[in-house]
Amino acid sequence: MSKTFRSKASAGARSVPSVPATTAAAPPPGRRPSGHVRRAQAKPQPRQGLAAGAALTGLAIDLLPHGLSVFDAQDRLVLANQSFRSIWRLPDALCQPGAQFDDIIRASRGATLVLDRTEPADTADGTQRRHREWRTLDDRTIEVSITRLPDGGCVALHQDITERRQAQQQAAHWARHDVLTGLPNRGHLRELLLRELPRTQRGEELAVLCLDLDRFKNVNDTLGHAAGDLLLRQVAERLSACVREGDAVARLGGDEFAVLQVSTTQPGGSAALGKRLIEQLSKPFNLAGHLAHIGTSVGIAVAPFDGDDAEALLKHADLALYSAKASGRGQLRFFETAMDQRLLLRQGLEADLRSALALQQFELAYQAQVDANSQAVVGVEALLRWNHPTRGRVSPLDFITLAEETGLIIPIGQWVLRQACLAAAHWPDSVIVAVNLSAVQFGSRSLVQDVLSALAEAGLPARRLELEITESVLLDDTEQNLQLLHALRQHGVRISMDDFGTGYSSLSYLRRFPFDRIKIDRSFVSDVAKGGDALALIGAISGLGKSLGMATTAEGVETCEQLQAVRDAGCTDVQGFLFSRPGPAQAVDALILAGTLPALKENPNV
Ligand code: C2E
Ligand code: CA
Ligand code: CA
Repeated sequence: MSKTFRSKASAGARSVPSVPATTAAAPPPGRRPSGHVRRAQAKPQPRQGLAAGAALTGLAIDLLPHGLSVFDAQDRLVLANQSFRSIWRLPDALCQPGAQFDDIIRASRGATLVLDRTEPADTADGTQRRHREWRTLDDRTIEVSITRLPDGGCVALHQDITERRQAQQQAAHWARHDVLTGLPNRGHLRELLLRELPRTQRGEELAVLCLDLDRFKNVNDTLGHAAGDLLLRQVAERLSACVREGDAVARLGGDEFAVLQVSTTQPGGSAALGKRLIEQLSKPFNLAGHLAHIGTSVGIAVAPFDGDDAEALLKHADLALYSAKASGRGQLRFFETAMDQRLLLRQGLEADLRSALALQQFELAYQAQVDANSQAVVGVEALLRWNHPTRGRVSPLDFITLAEETGLIIPIGQWVLRQACLAAAHWPDSVIVAVNLSAVQFGSRSLVQDVLSALAEAGLPARRLELEITESVLLDDTEQNLQLLHALRQHGVRISMDDFGTGYSSLSYLRRFPFDRIKIDRSFVSDVAKGGDALALIGAISGLGKSLGMATTAEGVETCEQLQAVRDAGCTDVQGFLFSRPGPAQAVDALILAGTLPALKENPNV
């Protein structure tokens, strides 16, 4: 730190106290109001004490983190500390007491641009305060707070706030960008859309393309989250390489991206771009040595036809994407008004579904499961039914997916568990009740507790409850779901694998969890009569089940031939219309009581 200036008998420094020197309030040009000179009133005291006091004050002022400058009413420097000089890069020689404000201004290199200013505001003590922010040529930001004293003098505090402003700018940047990929986020995309939409008033068109990666979850699950992150960054790069200057690529969240395309003829431009995006993302990705194959579907909305505001365009591109995904992987769809109508229908169904529980519109239908050899009823599957006053009987196939997407499956699933256990409590001890669980229910923290409460409420032993799950349970968040399955099993509940053979890797899941039962999908059973591989596959699956100690149920048995075939192929149990159609609890009570099932009575040969 250089030495603090001492008052010298310089010209015009008659008012300068014997304390460290000074600087003009901010370098900015500006007239200083005239007034009488501010004078430091030194009390009469011994010379030595005075000098020591001044030295100390000077030191203290130099130690201040802020730059400090004081000018008198004649614009002469009274005092400037070390920080002031270094902030403004001023030579020491210039900052001598008595130096003229204008000279200092001229010398304060680089202060060229006022970024921000406040108007002078009077304060109660008669002073006036104002604020300036300066950008220097070497790109620093200096904040100056100026207080004009009633006598015309001026005290200013100077601070280099470059870092603070940079941090604020960075925070503002990251509030509008995705941290992982550096792409604009959804909020920023909206801003960009707002900026570009006026083009449509000049007769231009623009397109919003929404993308959703296929099989991204697989990569995350099998290669881990670090690989998933790497993949998303590579996807961002490939997408960015596909677009032209002026277009924008954004990450909307998860594995969803969007592209804003401008300055081209539509719909040709977006169709070509969409195809290019699909093509680029279907090429393999190298994730630290692992090759990953994903893909994408694309939904497109074009302004002004499909919407003239940001919200409508994004919503419509998303609806088009939804439809693209529904028609298979790697597809491209333009928005159509029918999609909006479908959305309205879906919203209506959702509203009704939300109130269905409270209005007691659900009921359970029961379908017997039969021992393939003894032909006794060994179990009963509970199947959900929704009786709607105007929609009629809505099939679970038409509302389970919606219930899953909306999370309503959680309370509905709890209700199913309770009802099914209560019904089963009336059946003989040898009859189990099978309840279908959705993968979404595995995301609910209360799943195990829900199952245990349903059992306790009905007084049903856990061994009489069998939970049917599909492959999707093991596809999503596998480890956690496996733990939940083990926890349920430890409580004595049985677990079966439903719709076996319809998924991609059913076989591999048999190795991951020791299921109690495999339910062979009814598509195999219905194909039995057609010859081909179906019967051989049923035989192989039941053989596998036998060696793994798992029971095998053939689903959808409708004819005596099918029954005979699956029994010969080794299935331990059968279920289907041949024995019982799903019906009210009383009907299944009667079946259980009757012992022999009607279908078998009519066909004593099977
Ligand atoms: P799923 O678990 O595979 O249930 C068997 C489906 O096959 C039932 O359809 C049943 O009525 C039908 N079915 C049974 N035997 C035959 C047959 O011989 N021939 C033919 N063609 N069909 C037969 P449903 O009741 O319409 O249920 C459809 C699907 O809805 C179920 O398939 C299940 O995945 C789901 N579901 C039903 N109830 C629930 C529930 O409470 N929770 C959950 N998460 N899903 C449920
Ligand atoms: Ca089932
Ligand atoms: Ca099934």
